[in-house]
Amino acid sequence: MSDLMQKIVALTKRRGFIFPSSEIYGGFAAVYDYGPLGVELSKNIKEAWWRNMVQLREDIVGLDSAIVMHPKIWEASGHVSGFSDPLVECKSCHARSRVDHLLESIGVKADEKMSEEEINQLFTDNKDKVKCPGCGKSDFTDVKKFNLLVKTNLGNFTNDWDKEPTYLRGETCQGIYVNFRNALDSTRVKIPFGIAQIGKAFRNEITARQFIFRTREFEQMEMQYFVHPEKEMEEYEKLKEYRWQFYLNLGIKPENLKWHEHENLVFYAKAAFDIEYNFPFGFAELEGVHARGNYDLTQHQKFSGQNLEYVDPFTQEKYLPHIIESSVGVGRTMLAILSEAYREEGERIYLQLPYKLAPYKVAVFPLVKNKPEIVAKAQEILKTLQPQYMTAWDERGNIGKRYYAQDEIGTPFCLTVDYETLEDNTITVRNRDTMVQERINLANLSQFLAGKFS
Ligand code: ATP
Repeated sequence: MSDLMQKIVALTKRRGFIFPSSEIYGGFAAVYDYGPLGVELSKNIKEAWWRNMVQLREDIVGLDSAIVMHPKIWEASGHVSGFSDPLVECKSCHARSRVDHLLESIGVKADEKMSEEEINQLFTDNKDKVKCPGCGKSDFTDVKKFNLLVKTNLGNFTNDWDKEPTYLRGETCQGIYVNFRNALDSTRVKIPFGIAQIGKAFRNEITARQFIFRTREFEQMEMQYFVHPEKEMEEYEKLKEYRWQFYLNLGIKPENLKWHEHENLVFYAKAAFDIEYNFPFGFAELEGVHARGNYDLTQHQKFSGQNLEYVDPFTQEKYLPHIIESSVGVGRTMLAILSEAYREEGERIYLQLPYKLAPYKVAVFPLVKNKPEIVAKAQEILKTLQPQYMTAWDERGNIGKRYYAQDEIGTPFCLTVDYETLEDNTITVRNRDTMVQERINLANLSQFLAGKFS
């Protein structure tokens, strides 16, 4: 693990952002819990996305579909037959690895569409050069393709339920496709329009390393945009630009982002680009922006037997809309944001988070805790700020330590109430990024903060 990644893992555990799941039971691989600070950061990321994708767009509506849906949906989508990764096990240390990743480590590219036999052959040809990431040996089992869908028995009370399972959704967008008609019939949207959704998805990822980059339970933020077939590429270019700008607006430096074009397009796709971020372990996929043709609605039309065609209200033209999509994980966005924000200056560690993402916007400190008038005044300020801002309270130890503790969680401003406050109604405001302290009259505090957070 890289140095920066280790520091992020340590800080997020120490300060209550991210905990390994089920820790008191020895942990549960590739699943994480968001702690008191993490839940705020994740909420703020989701709010920023929702604002960008729904609130600011009259052509996009929201949705929250169920996690477990009709199992036929996953047959229609191709997940039951095709959503699998090639896996080998090391005969020596029994570590499991994804074959495409092992081959990639020696510069050999495996095509996603390869059958089990083809990829087995490719792996056998290169077996001697590949080393197990666990123990360094080169002694592997044959390649097996492993389906990533997670089965459940929701609504099935038989003992052999796994013969006819339901599934925890492997992606949120299928819930959008199957509600396309409902959104159309119940709102005023007309093509082109989008449906946005944030929600959990589950995948039995074989190798889940790199902290929250790849987990088995994760949250996706997806927007599917329905367009006239002839407008697909034009709208696709607009969406690419819009999504790129979103990350710049979150304070991500352009040099830490790049486009990656898929080399092997699935047969139905018109174009597929990923936005990659320069994570502590190198550039990797943050978001997919894909032009999917009319494959999704064609499949659902076929499997459900329902007509999903759109009738243009002006021209009466009938067609199956094409879809362009934007799809990103909340956890991956959080890891990108944390990597971007992490700063060290001597002893001082701070998170230079954009104000809108910071878990706490402000912290309030009484200079001393044994002077009731100071504590009461600080409490009064806390209570006036709480309705508007997530506000932290700290009365422990010396002020310098309290500043450093807030720096580590990215709180932009700390307000200190002291003896002078009782005399002249002023407080000290300390800035996270510049460490500059200024005296502000309490009468101007709300205007001061509004200016900073507007
Ligand atoms: P990868 O190639 O990294 O496995 P993918 O191409 O399978 O990702 P998509 O199916 O396109 O990913 O999912 C869209 C987005 O959902 C990804 O860009 C990523 O941000 C997020 N995502 C996908 N799988 C995971 C996972 N296991 N853990 C966390 N986030 C994920």
